[in-house]
Amino acid sequence: MFEKILIANRGEIALRIHRACREMGIHTVAVHSTADADAMHVRLADESVCIGPPPSAKSYLNMPAILSAATITGADAIHPGIGFLSENATFAEMVEEHGFAFVGPSSSHIALMGDKVKAKEAARSLGIPVVPGSDGAIGDIETAAKVAAEIGYPVLIKASAGGGGRGMKIARAPEELTSQIQAARAEAKAAFGNDEVYLEKYLAKPRHIEVQLLADGQGGAIHLGERDCSIQRRHQKVIEEAPSPALNAAERERIGDIAVAAMQKLGYRSAGTLEFLYEDGEFYFIEMNTRLQVEHPVSEMITGIDLVREQLRIANGQPLELVQEQLAFEGHAIECRINAEHPETFVPSPGRVSEYHAPGGLGVRVDSHLYSGYRVPPHYDSLVAKLIVQGRNRNECLMRLRRALEEMVVEGIDTNLPLHRRLVSAADFIDGSYDIHWLESWLDSH
Ligand code: ADP
Repeated sequence: MFEKILIANRGEIALRIHRACREMGIHTVAVHSTADADAMHVRLADESVCIGPPPSAKSYLNMPAILSAATITGADAIHPGIGFLSENATFAEMVEEHGFAFVGPSSSHIALMGDKVKAKEAARSLGIPVVPGSDGAIGDIETAAKVAAEIGYPVLIKASAGGGGRGMKIARAPEELTSQIQAARAEAKAAFGNDEVYLEKYLAKPRHIEVQLLADGQGGAIHLGERDCSIQRRHQKVIEEAPSPALNAAERERIGDIAVAAMQKLGYRSAGTLEFLYEDGEFYFIEMNTRLQVEHPVSEMITGIDLVREQLRIANGQPLELVQEQLAFEGHAIECRINAEHPETFVPSPGRVSEYHAPGGLGVRVDSHLYSGYRVPPHYDSLVAKLIVQGRNRNECLMRLRRALEEMVVEGIDTNLPLHRRLVSAADFIDGSYDIHWLESWLDSH
């Protein structure tokens, strides 16, 4: 096994990776910006290297600084975490060229899935169901109009280089098509420097369902079931749960089998997630994330598998230890993303945490880098904690989640804890009947 891992990230996920390394007897190197010198994972790591000033572009996205830190400390491998450089194919390639193992998939698979048009083509050829739409990027308006008429309005125009929901426009009728294509192109050009767009059927009330995968690149692949991430605001997930209250056993098995077969055919290596929209019993691929995801703990809670440990083993060339039939799914898990933001206006709230108390007890897990006296820096995203709760069934899980939310204390900054406390008592959430638009309309009316 590796002796030393460099963690090229910050916040709760850096701590999460540190914990897995520790349990495997692997030494850790934390790299951090000047704003994160007091971070929990920096304190806990065996070694730490400051890689630059607060702005991410000069620190957590600074490839030469990170590679130098790995060289100086004699690390064997680099774990990119989530966000930052985790889906940067150039970085993955550079890491390997410098003689370190990259804890993730091959750079070619990162590049393939990072281009949404190519990813969709690949998905289709791997037998994954996709949203009906233009086969590839849109050329001239006449062809686009023909495709739109065939699939039926409303249609969604999406950016090939898209991410975070940007460069996406709806055309509800033929007369809106030209202007919305132009608007999507302009937004994509500004955000990604690439104005290539494609067309998709707009699904009115889908759920967001994603399949967690692990593959070793040596023929072994398994799925850890699905997560339902339909509780979203502005395309950002707020609560995730597993299993999805919307799927039955047959649907779960069908999409799981399709996903595993696709990973084997692709020769994929590491953890990955296939994201789908799900409507009227059908799954439609939207994208593949070639990295760990924020919500990975809910899958860990119902399978008992440590996904970071498996990523490290796979990166070290070891085959998967388990085959699908050996996996046992137990009970239900829900995660609340606790953000440093106002619970009603969603304005970010960096600053000093005067008091922090994490809930505990059976079936409760908190992944957080907070401590009393910690200063949440203003430079990065607002996720400060994840509360993950497991129960033998969904009802037990909900009861436990409510009492854990009651116990949790974060003082000195605003957080969305009050929002979570209200959400877990909302009737539609309790009965599991929500789609990707539910949270926004609930917020409008509450
Ligand atoms: P991004 O990479 O920008 O996040 P995605 O393709 O993952 O883009 O889509 C982001 C979100 O946009 C989805 O979670 C869903 O809410 C919505 N969306 C995407 N495609 C469609 C579609 N065809 N119909 C309806 N909503 C969609």
